[in-house]
Amino acid sequence: MAFEFSFTADQEAFREAARAFIQRVVAPAVPAMDEREEFPAASVRALQQEGYFGIPVPEEYGGLGLGKVGYCIFLEELGKVDASHGTIVGAHTSLGMTPLLYFGTEEQRRRWLIPAAKGDKLLAFSLTEPGSGSDSGALSTLAESVGDRWSLSGTKLYVSNGAEADTIIVFAATDAKLGPNGGVTAFLVDKGTSGFTVGRCEKKMGLHGTSTAELIFDHVDLDRDHVLGPVGRGFVVAMTALDVGRVSLGATMLGGMHTAASEAIKFASQRTQFGHPISDFQAIQFKIADMAMHEHALRQMVYQAAAHQDRMGTDVAKWSRADRADKTRESAIVKCLASEWGVQAISESLQIHGGLGYIRGTPIERAYRDARITLIFEGTNEIQRLIVARDVLARGL
Ligand SMILES: Cc1cc2nc3c(=O)[nH]c(=O)nc-3n(C[C@H](O)[C@H](O)[C@H](O)COP(=O)(O)OP(=O)(O)OC[C@H]3O[C@@H](n4cnc5c(N)ncnc54)[C@H](O)[C@@H]3O)c2cc1C
Repeated sequence: MAFEFSFTADQEAFREAARAFIQRVVAPAVPAMDEREEFPAASVRALQQEGYFGIPVPEEYGGLGLGKVGYCIFLEELGKVDASHGTIVGAHTSLGMTPLLYFGTEEQRRRWLIPAAKGDKLLAFSLTEPGSGSDSGALSTLAESVGDRWSLSGTKLYVSNGAEADTIIVFAATDAKLGPNGGVTAFLVDKGTSGFTVGRCEKKMGLHGTSTAELIFDHVDLDRDHVLGPVGRGFVVAMTALDVGRVSLGATMLGGMHTAASEAIKFASQRTQFGHPISDFQAIQFKIADMAMHEHALRQMVYQAAAHQDRMGTDVAKWSRADRADKTRESAIVKCLASEWGVQAISESLQIHGGLGYIRGTPIERAYRDARITLIFEGTNEIQRLIVARDVLARGL
């Protein structure tokens, strides 16, 4: 395992440019977005036009060609400002474009990946169902082969970007008795396809800028161009995308933790009780120390994992078994610790703000509501621990 890592001058310049753009375009849109519970269409459009919806995709497919490290730099900066925007970018990039880049045919990459990376089309990823969450291979959505076409029927749940996406990566059982080991296939379903409708959009505790949609498929007729990856290999497609998603969730949370810690430090230095700034009290200092320690550790972990994925490249056929297993273990570790440390940091920052932290409309109150889902989505932390434990028991520490 390689441990050396540093940012290049180009990556530092990209961070500065992204930070300035996010501050100018995204930050002002966030309070109204959160209050109105609306998809932030204008700021998303501006990010798309700037190329930020195609960061890790190679330039030949319409992206910026900055790899997973560049992508995580951007998400760290975005996470400092807003988790909803981070989720919208993540659902599109990690979960939507990864399957196309890694498993798509050349024709599929030209038809679906290029417009997505250029920001002309939005993607979503639809695995979860009413009866299948953590047990994500046990799908009830069925795709039946009809001659050389497919008929897709079923109901999906909780799809981020589901209400706005132009194309959804949908996972369906093509051989229910095989389950995840050969019985799941990925399909590309475009908005407007006959038989496909967007159902209910959930009201949520946080992430008010994101849609979390039910998707209904009623005998949706698809030709073989809409099959993404080999028939029966859909579970591998889904898990490969989630490995990217879990690291990018870590990057977004890294930004969120940084803001929580910065706000805590600022507030604790200004707020006086018992004749002292509250930062003089050891109980407050320990909270700040924990935030700083976790942020320091998470930064190493996120960029090591992202750099590893960049070194592996996008040619799935060339990946060694050990590299695949390392990647999956690293992604699970990053996701689990990022969400737990992040939720802790944001909660402790709110505590340091006292009653003010609980008042609706303060950034820390919004961050607290937004952060809680990170323990659950992209695979719950119980499932991340199962992934790590199984790999450790099989291959050792
Ligand atoms: C805001 C939001 C956005 C989402 N976005 C998407 C998306 O874009 N695409 C998508 O496909 N899905 C999405 N999801 C779904 C999300 O990934 C699932 O909710 C999550 O994987 C958990 O599934 P579940 O809700 O069915 O819980 P369940 O699987 O029913 O789990 C319930 C509880 O049981 C625990 N549990 C289950 N099995 C085990 C086990 N073997 N050992 C120990 N504990 C276990 C879980 O950890 C959890 O605590 C989203 C969800 C939300 C709320």
